[in-house]
Parts: sequence; structure tokens; C-alpha cells
Amino acid sequence: MQGFTLTYDDYDPAAEALREALTSTGNGYFCTRGTAEWEDMGSVHYPGTYAHGGYNRETSLFGGSPVLNEDLVNLPNWLVLKLRIGGEAAVRFGSVELLDYRHSYDIRFALVRRDLRFRDRAGRVTTLISRRFVSMAHSHQAGIEWTLIPENWSGHVEIVTALDGRVANRMVARYRELEGRHLDPVSPRTFGHDIIALKVQTRQSNIYVAEAARTRVFLGGRAADVERDLYQMEDYIQQILTFDVEEGEPARLEKMVSLFTSRDNAITEPLTAAGRHVLRYPRFDEALDEHQSAWTELWEGCDIQLPREPRAQLLLRLHVAHVLQVCSRHTARHDAGVPARGLNGEAYRGHVFWDEMYVYPFLNLRLPEITRALLLYRYRRLTEARAAACEAGYRGAMFPWQSGSDGTEETQQVHLNPLSGQWDPDLSHNQRHVNAAIFYNVWRYYQATDDLEFLRDYGAELLLEIARFWASIAHFNPGRQRYEIHGVMGPDEFHERYPGAEEAGLRNNAYTNVMVAWISATVPEVLKLLPASRAAMLRRILEVTDEELRVWEDMSRRMYVPFHDGVISQFEGYADLEELDWDHYRATYPNIQRLDRILKAEGRDPNAFKVSKQADAVMLFFLFGHGDLQVIFKRLGYAYDRDLARRTIEYYDRRTSHGSTLSFVTFAGVLAGLDPQSSWDRFMVALESDVNDVQGGTTKEGIHMGVMSGTLDLLQRSYVGSSIDDEGVLHLQPRLLDRLDGVGLCMRFRGNSLRLSVKGDELTVLVQAEGFRGPLRVCISGDLRELTPGRAYVFQVPGQASSAHPRPSGDGR
Ligand code: BGC
Repeated sequence: MQGFTLTYDDYDPAAEALREALTSTGNGYFCTRGTAEWEDMGSVHYPGTYAHGGYNRETSLFGGSPVLNEDLVNLPNWLVLKLRIGGEAAVRFGSVELLDYRHSYDIRFALVRRDLRFRDRAGRVTTLISRRFVSMAHSHQAGIEWTLIPENWSGHVEIVTALDGRVANRMVARYRELEGRHLDPVSPRTFGHDIIALKVQTRQSNIYVAEAARTRVFLGGRAADVERDLYQMEDYIQQILTFDVEEGEPARLEKMVSLFTSRDNAITEPLTAAGRHVLRYPRFDEALDEHQSAWTELWEGCDIQLPREPRAQLLLRLHVAHVLQVCSRHTARHDAGVPARGLNGEAYRGHVFWDEMYVYPFLNLRLPEITRALLLYRYRRLTEARAAACEAGYRGAMFPWQSGSDGTEETQQVHLNPLSGQWDPDLSHNQRHVNAAIFYNVWRYYQATDDLEFLRDYGAELLLEIARFWASIAHFNPGRQRYEIHGVMGPDEFHERYPGAEEAGLRNNAYTNVMVAWISATVPEVLKLLPASRAAMLRRILEVTDEELRVWEDMSRRMYVPFHDGVISQFEGYADLEELDWDHYRATYPNIQRLDRILKAEGRDPNAFKVSKQADAVMLFFLFGHGDLQVIFKRLGYAYDRDLARRTIEYYDRRTSHGSTLSFVTFAGVLAGLDPQSSWDRFMVALESDVNDVQGGTTKEGIHMGVMSGTLDLLQRSYVGSSIDDEGVLHLQPRLLDRLDGVGLCMRFRGNSLRLSVKGDELTVLVQAEGFRGPLRVCISGDLRELTPGRAYVFQVPGQASSAHPRPSGDGR
């Protein structure tokens, strides 16, 4: 099938780490990088495996000071398979002459494959085909298959199959001075003659992790009884399988693997579970079949067809595959958040940031049960967030900027600037706006699903406690007669404080303050939505007084928003900062995305300049439509029109270095209506950003979940123009029709399944009869219709008179 394969036709050691991240195989429970089975961890290869929630804390002594870090732990390497021919050293990329090579990734099934033909030093030519998957059907299962063809020789081979617990977190060069050892050995074990197993334990968080592997050889299509030699140490176990192969006769080998942790349900302990399960696993082909069926079902709801744009098509699908490998239905059964860099690497230590805001919109409209479960990750950490607010002198719940196991603040205190070699203080924990993101995520989930039960049982409590936090961090300035928030940072991480100031944080970050105004206006609506008895009970339990409601109401009308030169100021005082000589920096440095590092290495302070790492004030136009913003600003008593949006977007576009890939997504989104070509160009940059590693070396340390899901959301939200209003109406406003021609995607909106497609200037909405929950209201350019199940509705897209007329089901396909 077209548009479903990522292929590398050469072996390039310099690119291997990036390719390993991009060809990771995972199922939302665990994920393993696309490293060749025969390569060890080193400067070129990094065979990492990560599971949701697998965190461990270690203290490093750093210049005499203890530094505590929590990492998502690299788990034992289950990939190990090594080929030895005629008693010689194991075949590695560096030890043979590659005659043919292809590393491919079947995006449909997250199936990683390598086809090699090589000549060894003795002149023997061998073909080796490796296929590998982590099962989407059975969350603990993975499989590797090798097909070995001796082309011009016959003889003796040995295959080393192992589980290697001697691993550490060593991927990210910047973190290497810090402790990376997280595992203690527990025990190796065998189950019968062909199963090896290994159990380890995280050193501080006491999570047991066990893997078991059954390796079998098939000669002439039949299981062969090969010689097996066992070797085990406390943190490593291997078998060497010895057998003879005949020239031109393929030999097949299967390694079926299981992975369990002590956090899993329905087990006695992980080692027993791993051994018992792997014993029952079917043969590779059958397991692969089940895995493929599970993916096929996922694609039915999640594929996005974009036939006019083949490159964008391929990358959208790559992104769908990666998002689902980190957030799947398996994830929903665990206490998991969304690590910003997926489960594919160690950057940001597997922490959970505000990036969820870019991830959930795609899931909300396809697999909302996953968002629901991921939101519960936050709910379970509400107690910790309440304690954090209280310790900081606030009320309500203050969630951390970086979250890991228990929801305490995991943001590092110092970070290494690779350009200067200096450890600089890190103040990014002052990004309290993550609390606005959590509020926004709960609300948008509710709007997309109408899941009042979630709101009643969990969501409302989160929302009330977050609103309460904002009311307590804000103060009323009688001089201005407005509420202000001081000492925080916006999403732009280049501005941590005022130049020369002692204290951290800024005054009145516009993005934060407007979000708070919106939150303050929304929270009473939440109370109204709840059944009266639950609203009353929540108010009683949380002691929400009438006075508090009055303050929220007041804040929704009187949050302060700074402006200068006819645009929204990123924060108060932004106008007084120096302009940067962008031309000079562009001419001097090949890449200026991380201008903060460049400026600091030059001895200058990024805080002093009008330069943003990423969209900050501009976020507002990304998260809300013009209608919503009009309401918010009007309520605040500030003038707002489309021109303010345009001016503000253009102003910051000229002053943003896009040091975070999230920024490309945001600017592509806000430019969709203003400058479609420029929007599309940014969309393409966002799509290419991981596959081409546009930040020059970050993707190998983990994919960017925010940008991958952000591009999927861009298509549905900014180009197909979908949005949901407070009345539960789905609005559609397709743009860039030449590019979208032929686009097709599915949505699950408030329990109803829809298929949207655009052909020319017609948008067709097919309403599935199966599972129809109704009512389903869709509005296109002011034309609001209630749609009935089993019919296809064709709409003329704006520019033409909008006319919706039903056709018999199937017409619009
Ligand atoms: C960005 C943040 C983001 C984080 C994790 C940083 O570079 O500035 O906005 O949350 O990466 O993706």
C-alpha cells in the first residue's frame, strides 16, 4: 500500500540513532527502539526499551551538591540476537561487507525490518532478513523473526539469544555526568529448555521488571532440535543455539518475548507471569497476524487520507503510528501520562509536560477513552498538586511543570548548555501555565465526548481546584482595578525573569492571564452542568464559598492583559526589551533555533531581548477561535478584532526562533486563515521535524509527541476547520481546498461515528448508523443542521452558498 513505508537503503552510522528512534516499535504499554538486534549500546547504537510509569530516582553528587533526578528507566535489552558463522566473532555492521541493505518500517503495523546481504571475511555471502514487532494485540508480547540464507556456503552457525539487564540510561550526552544506573539485578531463570528469563528491580522505586524469551529454530519449515548452551549472570542470561545450515536453504529463527512489571494487573509477580505467558505465545506468524488485525482496526478510525500530498500523507501516517505506539488502549489500563518524547528515548527523562494539549485533540475525536485515562493520570496526582500549592502559599491544586511518578515537581534545577559547557540555573518550573493546559484539556475532552460522568466524578474536582489555584496566585491591583499574576513564565522559555532582576518570573504573561480569565468564566458553567446534588456536594467538600464564586466572576472580567504598539505584549515590560539583530545571528550561526544557548555562550542574557523560543501570546489564537476570543476579551473590557490577532501573530512571528518544534505547529495553525501558503509551509516543517531531525540531533533522543500529534490536529482543526462550541455543535470550515482535495478522515464525536471527506469544494459528512447516539449537530458556514444516522450529507464549502442535502448512505465515500 502506498504511503505506509519508511525506508533507508543504506547503512549510515551517523544516522542510525535517529533511525532507531523513528523505527521504534511499541504498543502503548512498552516501546523499543529500532536498533539492530546484533548491535550493542555504544556511540552508534542504542537499544532502549521503556514502559509507561517505569520511573526511578537517583541522586548524583554534583560538585559536592546532591542533585536528584527522576528518569524513565531503560529496561533490559530483549533484542539481543547475534550470529556467529563457523566459530568466528559475531556478525556486526562493522565486521562484514554489506552487499545489499535495507532498513524499512511498515508504518501500518509498526513493523521494523532489515534486509541484509553481506560477505564476511571468509568470503561467505549470507542473506539475513529480520522482522520485529511489539504486539498491539497483546500488550506484553513482542516477537523477532530471522530468516537466514547461506548463499555460497554450508556449515555451522551459532546464534546468541539473550536478555541483557546490564543497561543504564546513557543516551543523552548532556545527562551523562549524572547518575544513569537505575536497575539492580534480581535473578535470571529458565522455564523449560528453550525459555530464558530475567528479573531486575529499579533501585529506588522498587519496580520489578521481568522479561522472558523463547527462541526456536526452524529448518526445512520444521522446528529443529538444536543444541543449546546456557550462560547466566545475575543481570544477564543467554543461550547459544548451534546448528548446521545448507547452502541456499533458508533457516528461520523466532524469538518470542514477554515483558511484565510489578505494576501490572492480574499477575502474581512479573517473572512468573513472563515465563508462563511466553510459553503460551503462538508462533511468530500467528502472533504477527493478531498484531496486524489490532492495527487494522486502529487505522479504520485513525487514518487520514491526503491523496494530493504524498509526502504529507506519508508523514501524517508515520505520526499516527507513533502517537498510537505511545498512547493506545493498553495505555488506558495503566497509570500513564504522555511523556513529551514518547517511549522512544531518554530526553526530558520521560517526563510529562503541557504537551498533552497538542496530543489530546487527535485522540479526543477518535479514541477518547485513551484521553480519559490519561486525564486520570492528573487526577491521581491531585493530592500532590494540592500539597504543592499549599507549600508555595497558594490554594487549590498546582500541578508541576514536569511530572513523573508521583506528581511532584521533576524539573531540573540546573541544565547543561552544550555550547558553553556551563551548568545554568533552570527556572522553567515557573511555567504555571501547565495548570491552564490541564483545565483546557479536561474541558475539551468533555466537549468532544459529552462525558458528563467523567466531569462529575473526576473532571470537575480538577477544574475547581485549578481555578482556585489561579485565584490565589492572582492579586488585585487597586491602581489598575485589575487582577495580576506575577512571578510566572509563559511557554517561551527564553524569558525566565527580567534582565538583571534577582527574582525569578515575569509579571502578567498575557497567555497565562487570558487563560485564567477564560478559566474563571468557565468554572461556574462546569458547576451548572453537574447534577445539582453533585455540584452541591463538591462545593461542600471543597468548601467553595459564594465569595469564591464572586472572585472568579470578577477575575473573568478583570484579569489584566498588557499591550504595546497595537499588539498583545507577551508579558508586562516586553516592550522595553532590546530588539535582536536577527540578520546578524542568521548570518553567523547555521541554526539559531536555540538562540538562548547561543546568547548565553556569548555572555549575553536572552531575557534582555525581544526573542521568543516558541509561540507564547500567539497560543491564544491557536487554542481559541475568533468568536471565543471576542467573548473573552469583550468580557474583560478590551477591544478585540481579527486585526489585533493578525498584528500580534505577525509581530511575534518575526521574533520567534522556534526552538521548540511545538512552535511550528502553533504558527501553522494560526496562519491557516491569514496566510494559507505560509501556514502550509510551517505544517510541512512540523511534519518533517522529526523524520529529518530539524533541530539537529534531538529526535534520536526521542520523538516529539507534541509535534507529531499536533500535525494530526492541525489537519483536522486548522485545515478541515473542525471546532466544537459550548452548545456541543461541531463546526467545520475547510480551507486550502486545493491541497485538501480528496482528504478523508473519521471522527468519533459525542459517541457518533462520522466520516468526513472533501472533494473539490464539497464536504461530505457520512453519519454511521452503527452505534448512533445522537443528537448530532453540525454547522458549516453558519448553516446548522441536525444530522441523522446512515446518511451522507454534502455541503458546499464557504465561498459558495452553503447547501446541505442528504444523500443515501454511502454516496459520499
Ligand atoms: C518546550 C516546552 C515543551 C518541552 C517538552 C521544551 O523545549 O519549550 O514547551 O513542553 O520542550 O516537549
